[in-house]
Amino acid sequence: QQHIAADRRFEKALTRGKKQIRVFANVTDVHSAQTAKEQGAEGIGLLRTEFLFKEEKPSLEAQTEAYEAIFSLFDDVTVRTLDVGGDKKLPYLTLPKEENPFLGIRGVRLFKTHPQLMEEQLHAIFAAAKGRPLKVMFPMVSTVDEFTEAKIFAERTAEKHKLDIASIRFGIMVEVPSVLFLIPDFNRVVDFYSIGTNDLTQYLFAIERTHPSLKVDEHSPVVFDAIRTVIVQADKPVSICGELAGDPEAIGTLLKIGMETLSVSPKSIATTKEEIRHV
Ligand code: PEP
Ligand code: MG
Repeated sequence: QQHIAADRRFEKALTRGKKQIRVFANVTDVHSAQTAKEQGAEGIGLLRTEFLFKEEKPSLEAQTEAYEAIFSLFDDVTVRTLDVGGDKKLPYLTLPKEENPFLGIRGVRLFKTHPQLMEEQLHAIFAAAKGRPLKVMFPMVSTVDEFTEAKIFAERTAEKHKLDIASIRFGIMVEVPSVLFLIPDFNRVVDFYSIGTNDLTQYLFAIERTHPSLKVDEHSPVVFDAIRTVIVQADKPVSICGELAGDPEAIGTLLKIGMETLSVSPKSIATTKEEIRHV
């Protein structure tokens, strides 16, 4: 089974009914993007940029260089702006002490608390895009205003540094439950959606994703209902980049409810494609 999957990793993933499902990769840096390419990924559905920032803050040049190397590997790339806070920490970034960091300053909320850091990251992303089509998404968005403010911030950044962003599309991670009830409003402003089931499941059940003893049922019908709500109501492209996308037990149901783009870890690309061929 593993062999067959590996041998066919560069082939399209067609269901038995001949519907093509796109299999993209979740990557963290140049190395994992290269691995994704070798594993047959058709694009990058999630570039988790926080790992580029791990030890110390990279310079504008270092960031631009890394983004350029990654963007040049695929035609279809979605890059997520820095997603820090909650379970994701950076040694040089001090966030206020909070009782509930998972409900505090994280993701897109950093545009308010750390504007310089975010400006520099967007500067590097736009400079690296060089007029190429690119998707930029914001994490942890919970209201339409949060998205619009972040997008305005991005536009101002481009203007300030004289960078052309006509080829760039802006979207959101769907990972906070409020978004499930706001899709008609988001349709008016976003270009795409990417469902992050890791955080979405955590917030739907109020169980920390890193909790040592409590475990959520990630295959709960609630999770699939939430995903279907987005697919049915969205009038923009929808993909999924949470762990569920590469879960063999979930793929059949995801396709049944209409998901057409799965973004999975590089090591799961071949097996995900093979799983799709049996649906
Ligand atoms: C998610 O929340 O499902 C997701 C893909 O993002 P991360 O795991 O990086 O929070
Ligand atoms: Mg998340």
